[in-house]
Amino acid sequence: MTDQPHPQADPTAGEPQHDHDPDAAPAEGIIIDRSAHPISRRKIPENVLKVLYRLHRSGYRAYLCGGSVRDLLAGRTPKDFDIATDAHPAEVRRLFRNSRIIGRRFRLVHVIFQDQVVEVSTFRREPERADDAEDLLITDDNTFGSPLQDARRRDFTINALFYNIADFSVIDYVGGLEDMAAKRIRVIGDPDVRFREDPVRMMRAIEFASRLGFEIEPATYEGIVRHRNEILKASPPRVSEEILELLRRAWSRGAIQLAVDAGLLEPLLPEVYHSISDDRAPYFWKMLDVLDRTVQAGRKISDAVLLSVLFLPWIVAELEREEHRREGRMRIGEVIVFIRELIQPLCARMALAAGTRHQIEQTVETLWRLLEPPTEKRAMFRFIYRDPFNDALALLELYALSSGRYVEQFRQWQSFANRVHRSADEAAPEPKKRRRRRKS
Ligand code: ATP
Ligand code: MG
Repeated sequence: MTDQPHPQADPTAGEPQHDHDPDAAPAEGIIIDRSAHPISRRKIPENVLKVLYRLHRSGYRAYLCGGSVRDLLAGRTPKDFDIATDAHPAEVRRLFRNSRIIGRRFRLVHVIFQDQVVEVSTFRREPERADDAEDLLITDDNTFGSPLQDARRRDFTINALFYNIADFSVIDYVGGLEDMAAKRIRVIGDPDVRFREDPVRMMRAIEFASRLGFEIEPATYEGIVRHRNEILKASPPRVSEEILELLRRAWSRGAIQLAVDAGLLEPLLPEVYHSISDDRAPYFWKMLDVLDRTVQAGRKISDAVLLSVLFLPWIVAELEREEHRREGRMRIGEVIVFIRELIQPLCARMALAAGTRHQIEQTVETLWRLLEPPTEKRAMFRFIYRDPFNDALALLELYALSSGRYVEQFRQWQSFANRVHRSADEAAPEPKKRRRRRKS
C-alpha cells in the first residue's frame, strides 16, 4: 500500500475538473496498487469495462464504485456495477450512443446494452447546509463534487471504495479497506449527522451487517440506537423496500434480530415488535430460519408471503385475543373480515402498492381457509386453481414447519396439489401436436 497525496488535485473543489491529468493520484486517498488487491478485470463484465475504458480514453476519471468494489474485494458476485466519473451527464451521454440521462433531481446516465444497464454518475458532494440547520434531512443532492467528496457523501466506509481503470488500483479515502479486513460496518463521518440526514442508512447498516456477516462498529451502532425513532421521518416506500430487502435474500433471521436489538423494529412496526419481543412467539424466529433455507435452496418467495411471515405472529395474537374476548371460536367469514380490517391500516402506513396489499390480504385469508380443508374433493379443486393458493401454501409450509401446528393440513394440501399438477401435466397435449391442431 502506498499513501500518495497528489499536490495538484483540490479535494474541496465543487465542480469536476477536466484540466488535470485524470490518471493522477487523488488528494488524501490511499492508493492500493493492482499487485496488492484481489480485484481482477476478469470479474468485471465486458460492457462495464467498455464504458470504463471509453471514459478513461476520453480524458475523464473512470472508477468502479459502491457495492461492486466492496463485493469484488470480498470475493462475492456484485449485484450491479456502478461507475463514477468526473464527466458531466451530458458529456457521458455524448460518448455513448446507447445511453440516456435519467432522473430529474439527481441526473445520471444509463448506458444500455442488450442484457445490461450500466449506471454512470458524476462525482457528487453533500449539499451545502447552514451550520445551524435544525432539520438535517437531505432533500437536494444534485451538486457535483470531487472524488474525495463523492466518497465522503456515501453511507459506509466499505461502500466508498473506488477501482480506478487507469491503473487498476483501488482508491480509499475513508478507511474502507481497513474496515473490510476487520469486517466492520462504519458510517462515514458523524453518525449523529449521517443518520439524521437519511434515516434509511440505519436499515442499510443492518442489511449489510447481516448480509456480509460483519459487525456494526460501536459508534455506528450507538448512533442507530440513539436515532432509531427518526426512521419514521424516512419515506415509507423506501423503508418498506428496505424491510423487504431484509427478508428477501436468505439473511432474514439475522437481519430482523438485529433490527429488534438496535431498536429499529419497535418504532417501525410496533404491532409486530410487541408480538415477537420477550420471546412471545418463538416459532417466528424458526419461521425466518426456514424461510432463509427455502430461499437459499433457490425457491422464489413472493413479497406478499415475505410480509405475511412478518405480520403472522401479530395476526395470530390478535385473533386469539379477539376469540378470547368473544368467548368462542370465530367462523371463517368472521376471521376473514377481522384479518382484513386488522392489516389494512398497517399496509397503508407502509405505503405498499395496491397490488401487494391485495396479495397479502388474499394470502393470509386463504391460509386460514386452508387450515380447515373441505371434505369434498371438488371444493379442494376450487382452491388449487385460485390465485393465492401457491402463496398461501408456501406460508402454511413456513408456519407449520416452524410452529409444529397444522402440519397435517399442510401435508394434505401439498400432496393433493402435487397429485393434481402431476395429472394435469400428463393430460397436457404435446406442444407439437398443439401447434398442428391450431393450424388446421
Ligand atoms: P447492493 O449490492 O445491494 O446494490 P450497494 O452498496 O451497491 O449494494 P446501492 O443501493 O446499489 O447499494 O447503492 C450504491 C452506492 O451508493 C452504495 O454503495 C453507496 O456508496 C451509495 N449509497 C446508496 N444509498 C446511500 C445512502 N442512503 N446514503 C449514502 N450513500 C448511499
Ligand atoms: Mg448496487
